[in-house]
Amino acid sequence: GLSTVNPRNIETVPLSEKSIDEFLTVLEDGGRTRLEGSLSSAAQLLDGRVLWNINSTAQGGGVAEMLDSLLPYMRGGQIDTRWNVVKGDGEFFAITKRIHNMLHGDCGDGGELGAAERATYEAVLEHSGAELCELAQPADVVILHDPQTAGLTAALKAHGASVVWRSHIGIDRPNEYTELAWQFLLPYLEGVDAFIFSRNAYVPEALAGRKIFIIQPSIDPHSHKNRLTSVEVAAAKVAEAGLIADASVDVRINPNGEETLLTGPPVELDGQPLVVQISRWDRLKDHLGVMQGFAEYVLPRHKAQLILAGPAASGVADDPEAAENLEQLFSAWRELPADARAQIHIACLPMDDINENAAIVNALQTRADIIIQKSLAEGFGLTVSEAMWKGKPVLASGVGGIADQIEDGLSGVLLSDPIDKAEFGEKLVALLEDPAGSQAIGAQARIRVRDNFLHDRQIAEHAELVAALLAAEPSG
Ligand code: UDP
Repeated sequence: GLSTVNPRNIETVPLSEKSIDEFLTVLEDGGRTRLEGSLSSAAQLLDGRVLWNINSTAQGGGVAEMLDSLLPYMRGGQIDTRWNVVKGDGEFFAITKRIHNMLHGDCGDGGELGAAERATYEAVLEHSGAELCELAQPADVVILHDPQTAGLTAALKAHGASVVWRSHIGIDRPNEYTELAWQFLLPYLEGVDAFIFSRNAYVPEALAGRKIFIIQPSIDPHSHKNRLTSVEVAAAKVAEAGLIADASVDVRINPNGEETLLTGPPVELDGQPLVVQISRWDRLKDHLGVMQGFAEYVLPRHKAQLILAGPAASGVADDPEAAENLEQLFSAWRELPADARAQIHIACLPMDDINENAAIVNALQTRADIIIQKSLAEGFGLTVSEAMWKGKPVLASGVGGIADQIEDGLSGVLLSDPIDKAEFGEKLVALLEDPAGSQAIGAQARIRVRDNFLHDRQIAEHAELVAALLAAEPSG
């Protein structure tokens, strides 16, 4: 029916429509049949019902990245899918960030997850839940993403919707923090009809016997972030963005007037290899460890330039710790010896135009010789797939989903211990000293992503999930 509310606690993210023909033309027969068949049976079973996606930020981070690029194809495949974002205040996001860190096995900000936190969490979601129920029809299907939205389940179930909860995070071996986070979340998940996890190991024991789907995240080869360009085009783009010095390119000034590089003027490469890590300013991405490992164990043995890049401050709504982490990283940089400071750079990429941000990330990944992702925990690393797709050798921690993405030594290189800076240095130097071997790894990386981690696979899996969910419903 017509919505009578003017939503204030949820926001609708506009979605375009993209044709799946882009995939159909490149897929083998089997893949084509799967994609077309699954979409048409899902559309038939949905029969006009809407497939909602709810998360807590429209930009920044892997979930927003994936919804923004994946959902338009589902719409193009005749599935009426929509995207809404729940709004929260600082207190709400401090709590959900705590849950996020704890689900990754980390103590987070040291705060509690008790009755007071439940009260704050529930109060924020009560308003967004009521507004969602005004928008959604009772028979619709809703996918709730991550801890920020788990507390919407009861309201949506009471409304009559089918509810799927998708966790994009997880850790292979539970510890005291994951236990506490699950204790907080599980009561909210009681009515959930089906769950999606990125790996089997992430499913907590308490959900044994429930309906579980394993769906690995994927990337869009046609997006601003991932469309393939030449290294020359990428070089011009990173020069224009103020990252790499190039006398022949005009540096475009950021609209907000901030410098792109916090640490000084554009990088003078002078033929040195470029090493890059791109991540949100999240402690679990371990920018600090990359910087220290590079200064201590790489620079004495091989001259190279390192750029640590992330979103400009306040670019990511649900990430309250970013500014503080960035400040800490910058202080640590100031403490480095001058010769290390000349080789290590911190970049804040403008976030005011999301397509432009994506184009800069694309160019930086394309221009880089080696990509790092030294995360301490990672549900699944989109940045890893993005770099592999561009044919880059990726040196990454063998944690969480990254161990499914990279075949060690073949389509990338894994660190067996993510906090061991000496191992990091040794493996990075080995890649730097063997350009031919590095290139061969990059070539394998692209094949690995083409065959396993592009959106065609995930579109089909979503359609199959919807079909399984609706076919299992008692009719009438
Ligand atoms: N990203 C970006 N701009 C930045 C930093 C990150 O667009 O300045 C993107 C990155 O390209 C990737 C996503 O944010 O698509 C991060 O996803 P990932 O799964 O690697 O980590 P998450 O942020 O979800 O923990």
